[in-house]
Amino acid sequence: MGLVSSTRREQWKIAPDTSVQYLKGVGEGRAALLGAAGYATAGDLLYLLPLRYEDRRHPVRIADIRSVRTPVLLRGRVSSTSGRPSPIRRLPVFQAVLDDGSGSMPLVWFNQPWLAEKIRRGDQLAVFGVPAMGRRGEIQIESPDWEVLDPSGESQDEGAIVPIYPKIATIQPRVMRSIVSQALQSLGALRDPLPESIRQRLDVISLPEAIFRLHCPEEITPDLIDGSSPAHRRLVLQEFFSFQLALRLRRLREEKGKRKPRRILVTDEIRGRAREILPFRLTAAQKRVVGEIAGDLEAERPMYRLLQGDVGSGKTIVALLAALLVIENGYQAAILAPTAILAQQHAYKIRELVDSRVRVALLTGATPASERKELLAALKNGEIDLLVGTHALLEKPVEFRSLALAIVDEQHRFGVTQRRKLFEKGAMTDILVMTATPIPRSLAIAVHGDLELSVIDELPPGRQPVRTVVRGTNRLTKVWEFLAGELEDGAQAYIVYPIIEESEKLDLKPLVAGAEAVKKAFPSRRVGVLHGRMTAAEKDETMARFKGGEIDILVSTTVIEVGIDVANASVMVILDADRFGLSQLHQLRGRVGRGSRKSWCVLLRDESSSENAKTRLRMFEATTDGFEVAEKDLELRGPGDFFGTRQSGAPGFRFGHILRDFRLMELAREVAIEAAERGRFGDAAQLAKSLLGAEPQRMRD
Ligand code: ADP
Ligand code: MG
Repeated sequence: MGLVSSTRREQWKIAPDTSVQYLKGVGEGRAALLGAAGYATAGDLLYLLPLRYEDRRHPVRIADIRSVRTPVLLRGRVSSTSGRPSPIRRLPVFQAVLDDGSGSMPLVWFNQPWLAEKIRRGDQLAVFGVPAMGRRGEIQIESPDWEVLDPSGESQDEGAIVPIYPKIATIQPRVMRSIVSQALQSLGALRDPLPESIRQRLDVISLPEAIFRLHCPEEITPDLIDGSSPAHRRLVLQEFFSFQLALRLRRLREEKGKRKPRRILVTDEIRGRAREILPFRLTAAQKRVVGEIAGDLEAERPMYRLLQGDVGSGKTIVALLAALLVIENGYQAAILAPTAILAQQHAYKIRELVDSRVRVALLTGATPASERKELLAALKNGEIDLLVGTHALLEKPVEFRSLALAIVDEQHRFGVTQRRKLFEKGAMTDILVMTATPIPRSLAIAVHGDLELSVIDELPPGRQPVRTVVRGTNRLTKVWEFLAGELEDGAQAYIVYPIIEESEKLDLKPLVAGAEAVKKAFPSRRVGVLHGRMTAAEKDETMARFKGGEIDILVSTTVIEVGIDVANASVMVILDADRFGLSQLHQLRGRVGRGSRKSWCVLLRDESSSENAKTRLRMFEATTDGFEVAEKDLELRGPGDFFGTRQSGAPGFRFGHILRDFRLMELAREVAIEAAERGRFGDAAQLAKSLLGAEPQRMRD
């Protein structure tokens, strides 16, 4: 007689809001423990999913046990018991011998002396555990799960697939099972917050069915183990859909009656004028993306769009075209870059491309006070069309006359607060965030709130893939020889040192020493140095000289990591490469391979670097695809760490995993749009409310 049938029969016995205290075996003490863990009612316990399952349907004869390490279910009579302190561990040990007629098996428990009261000679006992070799070579089972059978032989667990729940405080697994199985008696009264029509659209089973299958599966199937069973799908989709629906409804509320107070028209004439600045032909992907952005600019609701494109895919020109579209309509645009060097580079390039009709200004933390004052006044008067800058442009005194579009470059950690600040710089500013990090949209949504996504999935023509090689530091001389040859051929190079910038403190010694060594190794070459402690003016000057070909080798910290674009630089040497994250290496590698020159990325690592580090670098050597690199990095570091989602307060999901289940998030989003914006499933607000009400306590907190 298993758990399954008895539970089916008793599904109606209690209400989901029954306090756990009224369940058998739960006194005040345990009720408090459960409550503290977030399980106050029977209904809450329904969502306590098993960590794993054990198949206890097939008792084994002791005489048939051949191997250790395979868990077995045994059934027999206790032929003897003894309690004594263990000589080694100084723990009380309780021993019992189980006899099933075919043979006998010693059972050992440590530090549970009270078992002497529970398990007595002559008892009928079922045990589940892993046979192991004892100290004297005898086979025994240590700390098995056990159950004394009542005289009829009836058992709670035996003959069933047994769910193993996560441990809550001190509550024993077996007690936990009994508590949850009682809670399952409320299933019949559990309301499904998703109506049939939405269940069909999402292709999910009903909630009570899903919960039942998770606690009492008929078989331990692979999809049950890896969390992709229909029952899991149901819980994940409910969670995602609830999240998406709330997001859509909030957005609708916020936008209600709010329209952008401007009419942007992308006429053929404007399109033509923007096209005139192009120094090359756009790739098909760039064209498509510009089209998507133009559509958003023309629309009534504010744009919030994420533009993804691997390093070197040409995001900058897309940003500029978008800016020109609003400028041609008489509005202002802004480009926000994460570093002063990058802001400077953008301003410089843009000025080269546009004609004097477009007034471009640069604002960073290093802009002198007098210049800044003038600039702010001009910005407010509308004498500046495009402001390029660092976070300095988010500050309060920076006021625009008519900001219509704000573009954020290379900033996947761009947070909600910054977004709001930008939004408020104009009247319902359109926002475009650009990143080389291929964030799955589901994760981006969790980080940024709801957004549209554009992808540049194509590199400009004529690019040669960057050859990546990993070398031990003992081969440094060889690497320098190789570099000398490339320089001879007219190339320029970056040499990057891993210098850790601990807030204000930047230890420059390795960089300075490194630069000296490089100068010695290449006496006839012009060597420049770049690091975060230099003033903005010094940095600008160095970058300009490198760009102008007046510097052959730029020895640098990772300040060059993002965005820097010097087409003639074709060799990137990274020292102590094993100390960088993969995504960071990819960004650094993206500094070369930008022109027609054959490009190289040489990673030097310590001979003594760990196996793990070696594997990572080998993987990096083998691919140039940013998506693959990011996936690997995610695997190694976990999403919170990687995207800084912890800091940005992204919602944690209880059942869904935003990376693993990103397709489900997409589906949830689609259906939420249908529900919220097209009213396809009746009253969306009511639906959102009932979904929220169905969430167990732990999710509501
Ligand atoms: P990222 O996407 O990494 O920001 P950039 O915008 O810096 O890339 O572009 C990388 C380089 O490719 C730049 O030198 C840019 O001028 C060039 N580029 C961009 N688009 C094209 C194109 N369609 N054809 C040729 N070169 C292009
Ligand atoms: Mg860029």
